[in-house]
Amino acid sequence: MLPQRRKTRVVKVGNIYIGSNHPVSIQSMTNTDTRDCQATLKQISSLEKAGCEIVRIAIPDMEAANNIENIVKKSKIPVIADIHFDHKLALTAINSGIHGIRINPGNIGSADKVKSVAESAAAAGISIRVGANSGSLSKKFQHKVTDNNTNTDKAIKLANALVDSAMEQCELLEKYGFKDIKVSLKASDTLTTVAAYRKFSKIADYPLHIGVTEAGTQFQSTVKSSIGIGSLLIDGIGDTIRVSVTGTPESEIKIAKAILENSGHLHPCPEIISCPTCGRTEINLIEMVEKTETLINSLKAEGKKFKPSKIAVMGCAVNGPGEAKDADIGIAGAGKSSFILFRSGKTIGVYTADKAFQKFEEEIKKLLL
Ligand code: SF4
Repeated sequence: MLPQRRKTRVVKVGNIYIGSNHPVSIQSMTNTDTRDCQATLKQISSLEKAGCEIVRIAIPDMEAANNIENIVKKSKIPVIADIHFDHKLALTAINSGIHGIRINPGNIGSADKVKSVAESAAAAGISIRVGANSGSLSKKFQHKVTDNNTNTDKAIKLANALVDSAMEQCELLEKYGFKDIKVSLKASDTLTTVAAYRKFSKIADYPLHIGVTEAGTQFQSTVKSSIGIGSLLIDGIGDTIRVSVTGTPESEIKIAKAILENSGHLHPCPEIISCPTCGRTEINLIEMVEKTETLINSLKAEGKKFKPSKIAVMGCAVNGPGEAKDADIGIAGAGKSSFILFRSGKTIGVYTADKAFQKFEEEIKKLLL
């Protein structure tokens, strides 16, 4: 069941629509030096193959900005320029055919500079993300958090500061007639992040780019992002997501897809269910689950598609088929070194460990479209 999505205005990044009932898109950011065109394009291609739908590139200086045209022309997915401090970089990005820009509230300079960026972006028909970030809130909003506040107070105050900071920038863009805005309100902790997005979603109709910033290593980020992004998505809040990982950008995509699947936004296809194992487990279940996952991923990588289906990998025949009775196909341990295969809860055969996976693979392939 899809969560009821929040109604928002709709913006476009290249060929991707963001907002209202358009699918929640997956974003990432390259960590190559944008001045190195080849390395950046190589990483964009790798991200695209992993399932990334929109990519952001950092534009630290004019040398990087001058590479944008080449990168945009060769990228298969829309490209967003991440701009800080220098509105000329934003103008160069827009003139180079960028599909969207991200600015940080308050750090692009005077109102006149914001006006020139807004007018150029409007003329080019691209969208702007106002990206408020707890680590770079302008001084004006920082005083709202003091050391005397409790942790909960701090989270709420920081969330309010993120909302106010983003709103001020949106109002300035709107004052210059610019409306194709999306907003992000990221903090490095989940409570602040979720509080900020919940508040903002009630007071404005901008589509939301959601994520927990600086979320840490793959393990840390999986937990923080699943809670932060996942809880918002279940509430129907969020139109495009970025999982932030200290690691390879490709790892972000795997987590993002899993979050979308488990929050009801993307149908897991096929869904793999496996038991946690217990004292009844007499076979190597972990190996069987890993082999199953590898097989499915390699079939998907070949471009094969599965019917909507559920595959169960269970530790024992006592409870396995029963616990996984709604699975289309399943395998369960049946004593030492043998497995039972079942389809829709009914046994179809018992096999030794060396034969079992071969039979299971044949059954899994029957689920292909
Ligand atoms: Fe234990 Fe069997 Fe349940 Fe797995 S399916 S947790 S082995 S009882």
